[in-house]
Amino acid sequence: MGFSTKQIHDGVTPDPLTGSILTPIYQTTTYVQDSVDEYLAKGYSYSRSGNPTVRVLEDKLTALEDGHDTACFGTGMAAINAVFMAFLNAGDHAIISDVVYGGTYRLATKIYSRFGVEFTFVDTSNAENVRAAIKDNTKLILTETPANPTLKLTDIAAVSAIAKEHGIPHGVDNTFLTPYFQKALDLGADMSIHSTTKYFDGHNATVGGAVVSANAELHEAVSYVRNATGTIMSPQVAFLTLQGIKTLSVRMDRQSENAQKVAEFLESHANVASVCYPGLASFAQHKLAKSQASGFGAMVWFEVKGGLTAGKKLMDSIELWSLAENLGSLESLVTHPVTMTHADVEEAERKRVGITDGLVRLSVGLEDAEDLIAALDAALAKV
Ligand code: PLP
Repeated sequence: MGFSTKQIHDGVTPDPLTGSILTPIYQTTTYVQDSVDEYLAKGYSYSRSGNPTVRVLEDKLTALEDGHDTACFGTGMAAINAVFMAFLNAGDHAIISDVVYGGTYRLATKIYSRFGVEFTFVDTSNAENVRAAIKDNTKLILTETPANPTLKLTDIAAVSAIAKEHGIPHGVDNTFLTPYFQKALDLGADMSIHSTTKYFDGHNATVGGAVVSANAELHEAVSYVRNATGTIMSPQVAFLTLQGIKTLSVRMDRQSENAQKVAEFLESHANVASVCYPGLASFAQHKLAKSQASGFGAMVWFEVKGGLTAGKKLMDSIELWSLAENLGSLESLVTHPVTMTHADVEEAERKRVGITDGLVRLSVGLEDAEDLIAALDAALAKV
């Protein structure tokens, strides 16, 4: 079956009691057992450990990612936290891409560092940098590709091969492209991690996360943390995400098409200093973007001539694009990473990895490309 068929049908069967075509929201705390000896015979005991609505979403994500099994979480950060907690002990070391979502950086540097875990933030765009950073106590490699917000890419197959040589699990934050465009596990990664908040939901309706694992051992380790820490996704969120996923491929195709048009427009504009989009021939890793994924995604960033002051003016005045955190929704959004999503990354570190003060991040939505471009054109005329 093709991806569009799978995104609608995989994991979902009509409700056996009523025939309801949509998976019901199993809003329950506990599940009555038939007898002590038949404990867990129907698979559920308590909704912190598992829930039937959430399970349907997990089965669907497993199918879409070609994974072994999936654990869904209350947020994307809870998913990343579970991966850290599952594989890192005091005294261990982890390698993380030097450009990652600010929350991931914060979790590592402000929380896990307190418990004696050591991190090296590596430019993973060159896989050999990962090899060079591996130590005897390295227990996890986490890459984010494309990375938030600079869109730097990591060669998933190359880093996975190095990770396998050393027996270290490699998790990929696949939020920006989803399995529709990028099959992280097929490329050799051990876990594909998601903020389902973004493209899977797609409608700005929920926050959620997922870890799709390539084998039972990894899945057990992540699920154990989820149960122990109480970070499972709620059934309402799973229900809404199940509806969003049915149109994932259609939304991503159109949003990427729109992003390409927006990026080309920006590249040709006299008031724009630089534009970054993996679909542009000028993108430094354009070749890898084409070989590793089947689409370029819908995230773009640019800098306005006049730097931060001009960029702020544009973000404050632009019509149609909402100034907001989040990405991947069908509403187009504009974000200033330095004050919003990456505010907890120290200035020196931001500068080192290219998150400049004037960087304007666009999450291109599903509106008509002509309207999005007209709004950008009008805002650029004012700066
Ligand atoms: N990973 C990436 C790439 C993100 O962009 C985000 C949030 O923006 C997260 C993880 C965290 O997800 P959540 O906001 O659902 O906790």
